[in-house]
Amino acid sequence: MSNYNIPILMYHSIESMPKSTIMRSLHVPPRRFKFQMWLLKILGYRGLSLKELKPYLDGYKHGKVVGITFDDGYQNNLINAAPILKKYNFSATCYIVSERVGSSNSWDIEKGITQRPLMSKTEIKEWLSLGMDIGAHTKSHVDLTSITEYKALMEIRDCKSDLERQYNLKITDFCYPFGLFNETVCDLVKESGYLRATSMVRGRVSSRSNSYILPRIPINHRTLPHLFLAKILTNYEDIKLRKNI
Ligand SMILES: [Zn+2]
Repeated sequence: MSNYNIPILMYHSIESMPKSTIMRSLHVPPRRFKFQMWLLKILGYRGLSLKELKPYLDGYKHGKVVGITFDDGYQNNLINAAPILKKYNFSATCYIVSERVGSSNSWDIEKGITQRPLMSKTEIKEWLSLGMDIGAHTKSHVDLTSITEYKALMEIRDCKSDLERQYNLKITDFCYPFGLFNETVCDLVKESGYLRATSMVRGRVSSRSNSYILPRIPINHRTLPHLFLAKILTNYEDIKLRKNI
């Protein structure tokens, strides 16, 4: 198998937030997101959902591609990001917390993190109708390493079946809440029938990557254009990956 380095971008909320916002870094202003997508386009890259990225990840298709992911399913992904993605003919995967659809990021309340609305069922259907994809992010956005194996299985397996039933599609992608996992959790994801899982381990995906611990590249409020390009075009993030291991 040939060598490759595929960046999978990790976004959360796409919204301009006031300076006082706790964890403001999780919110990328729409104008910055727009500029990042434009940069990818003029450099000849295609932004793809994880499902569309599969042949590239498996190494039998080659090209200038970047995975685009959004964690949690914020309503602002549909309002602010989808029109831009559509304009450039890009697709993206949004990881949905199945029991929090139409609610908010309530798992962050204790940390004082600003609450933002999550997409409703109708809005997720709209996201899908625009050619975008969804993946699973558990039922309640729980730390899977802190609960019993049985409870973790329910969170992982039932999220998949709930989403498949509600939206009438196959869910093949999983994303660990808070980026937390261990060997048992990885095995449960595999056994539940997912094909891949993304983590918060930093780096670009290579032929050596574990499909159930795919590294990603965090893009946040402070990711200015020069850093955005370094993260995609150079080994900037891969060096961080090696440090993590
Ligand atoms: Zn999350």
